[in-house]
Amino acid sequence: MQKMLKLERFVSPGKGNGVRANVALRRGQLVLSAEPLACCVSNRVRSQVCHHCFSWGETLKRCSQCKAARYCNAMCQKQAWSIHRRECKSLQRLSPRIPPDSVRLAARIIFALVCELYTVEEHESHLSLMSEQKKQGLSELASTLQLYLQQEAAGLEPIMTSALPPSCQDPLSLMAKIICNCFTICDKELQEIGVGLYPSLSLLNHDCRPNCVMMFDGPLLQLRAVVDIRPEEELTISYIETLSVTAERQKQLQDQYYFTCRCQLCSCGAEQDRFMLSGEEAKWQQLKEVLPELEKHKTQNNWETLLKSCRRLLSTVVNNVPDENVYKLKLTDMAVDACVHLQLWEEALSFGRKTLSVYKRYFPDPHPVHGVQLMRVGKLQHYLGHIQEALDTFRQAFQILELTHGRTHPLTTEVLTKMEECQSHAYSDCGDTT
Ligand SMILES: [Zn+2]
Ligand SMILES: [Zn+2]
Ligand SMILES: [Zn+2]
Repeated sequence: MQKMLKLERFVSPGKGNGVRANVALRRGQLVLSAEPLACCVSNRVRSQVCHHCFSWGETLKRCSQCKAARYCNAMCQKQAWSIHRRECKSLQRLSPRIPPDSVRLAARIIFALVCELYTVEEHESHLSLMSEQKKQGLSELASTLQLYLQQEAAGLEPIMTSALPPSCQDPLSLMAKIICNCFTICDKELQEIGVGLYPSLSLLNHDCRPNCVMMFDGPLLQLRAVVDIRPEEELTISYIETLSVTAERQKQLQDQYYFTCRCQLCSCGAEQDRFMLSGEEAKWQQLKEVLPELEKHKTQNNWETLLKSCRRLLSTVVNNVPDENVYKLKLTDMAVDACVHLQLWEEALSFGRKTLSVYKRYFPDPHPVHGVQLMRVGKLQHYLGHIQEALDTFRQAFQILELTHGRTHPLTTEVLTKMEECQSHAYSDCGDTT
């Protein structure tokens, strides 16, 4: 009989706590499915995403009391009420101001802790390693939290002091723990829609080429193996976007998570770095410097301005830099985004095509980012009538998504439907000509 999959905590050499499984895992295997202890929709999308099931909706209904929470329908609202009840009063008091995501998450964690007596005491806060500037930002969040919870917390106080460990009663260290340990919740296009705390997953360590990936279906998190894993081998995820050179990954990990990564890729990734930085340095340096400004246009939805800059840079500054240069890749991706928003499908496809071989090179293991990019390009090909090409791209997407997302995930079913559409289109074309 097969042994049951069990995860266990162990001491990972040089990294403190880690997680491993007691059995061998196949690539694509679901390792763990976890509901968050607490989660909330990002402020940025809070009027477009249901605060209960995290679905996008065009006509969401508002909570009549706080006017901030929104739901698909009465059913979602009813199911959310036990969690929203306390928060609703806090929101009404601060209205029209809405506290930052981390503060709303912290409040929800406190309410959940009081209900469930779960302890976040073990999570690391890294407070002692933080710069003064960071601590300053954190203490502002902590005071917003206190303001937000004022009345609610007064009623809760006696329960809180008895239920919460001392380290979590202090708002500053609670905020620090939350910021270090919460996960960004993404929709199926990998757009950020919320934040959540998944206690059982906070123990997973980072690797720049991880053996597991996390995907979401609403707020439900699923952890899957992307390579075959031996019994008792440590399970890892990536805390950051891995499409960057070693020095940049290391800096980001140090700044945000306070450790120096010693993974295989960090120690032997010189060749990948060379590819990522290929082309004339003076040229891509120039591009690297303007990227943050372009990112800003993207977050502010200034698509016309963004596209103009992308076109100019791609045809002049970096026209001779190879497509695998990581800054050029980021630029090309932004050009795709801009074109899609401006409905310039042909141009979007011509930019999108250039990225595919590069993504393939930089994601040797199945990765959600790669799967989603293939899906994006496949949809453009399909829409523009390049059916054979689209079918081929969707097939590649499926090969990745069935491993990273599993067969029943909405994105995997979507790609299967797309493949069927392409196939029936191809058949009906044959019918026409014969
Ligand atoms: Zn809903
Ligand atoms: Zn409300
Ligand atoms: Zn690393």
